[in-house]
Amino acid sequence: MSQFDLILLGPPGAGKGTQASRIAADYRIPHVSTGDILRAAVKNQTQMGLEGKKYMDAGELVPDAVVIGIVRERLQEPDTAKGFLMDGFPRTIPQAQALDAALDDLGRAITKTIVILVDEEDLVKRLTGRRICRVCQAPFHVNFNPPREEGVCDKCRGELYQRDDDAEATVRNRLEVYRSQTEPLIDYYDRAGVVARIDGAQSPDEVYASIREVLGPAGE
Ligand code: ADP
Ligand code: ADP
Ligand code: ZN
Repeated sequence: MSQFDLILLGPPGAGKGTQASRIAADYRIPHVSTGDILRAAVKNQTQMGLEGKKYMDAGELVPDAVVIGIVRERLQEPDTAKGFLMDGFPRTIPQAQALDAALDDLGRAITKTIVILVDEEDLVKRLTGRRICRVCQAPFHVNFNPPREEGVCDKCRGELYQRDDDAEATVRNRLEVYRSQTEPLIDYYDRAGVVARIDGAQSPDEVYASIREVLGPAGE
């Protein structure tokens, strides 16, 4: 593949964030996480953050217009010219159509949609045990991927915390929202012939090896 305009798709907890940093580093493309951007807006108490927070706390989707605006702006940044890795976007058909239209304007199209698949009960265990770095957003897990030192990020020594929306009741709702609103995107991208399905029940290293196989060499 020459251009790497990539989407990471999959239910909450599938391991998108875990895989994203390695893909972004190896293929030298920016990691665009709408969840990270929205959480930063909440923390900074911007207008968008204040508006988005109520949806995020309930495990509902933030309105399409807001996230589409975020991604349109992000695609104006020069670092996305050689490609990008979308993580957590698109999540609805209108978002996917807006992304296609924005790329079409640039004479580009999605090169691959990597779908990471994991069983529902495993997702609940992954999400309820997840811990995130306050500084670099790296995900850890209390059992499956513990940091070397409890409560401290391996990468930047930032403090680890548990997201409010990783409480079990909210997790169940997020999985339901995924099934009804986001899963149909697999068909949408299948029709474009760009889907690669990955077994997310493997270890993080094995998942990454499967992704590398699909993407091929990173180029120069
Ligand atoms: P997503 O971004 O898809 O919501 P994350 O990458 O944040 O998912 O992973 C969710 C949780 O599962 C984290 O606590 C992470 O450490 C853990 N995790 C990620 N990949 C695996 C894996 N292959 N096996 C077991 N646990 C994993
Ligand atoms: P996950 O670990 O479940 O993949 P994210 O960090 O991607 O979670 O998203 C957290 C929350 O941010 C979502 O539950 C939703 O409220 C909001 N969000 C993130 N991306 C989007 C999007 N593309 N569309 C709508 N809401 C979004
Ligand atoms: Zn960190």
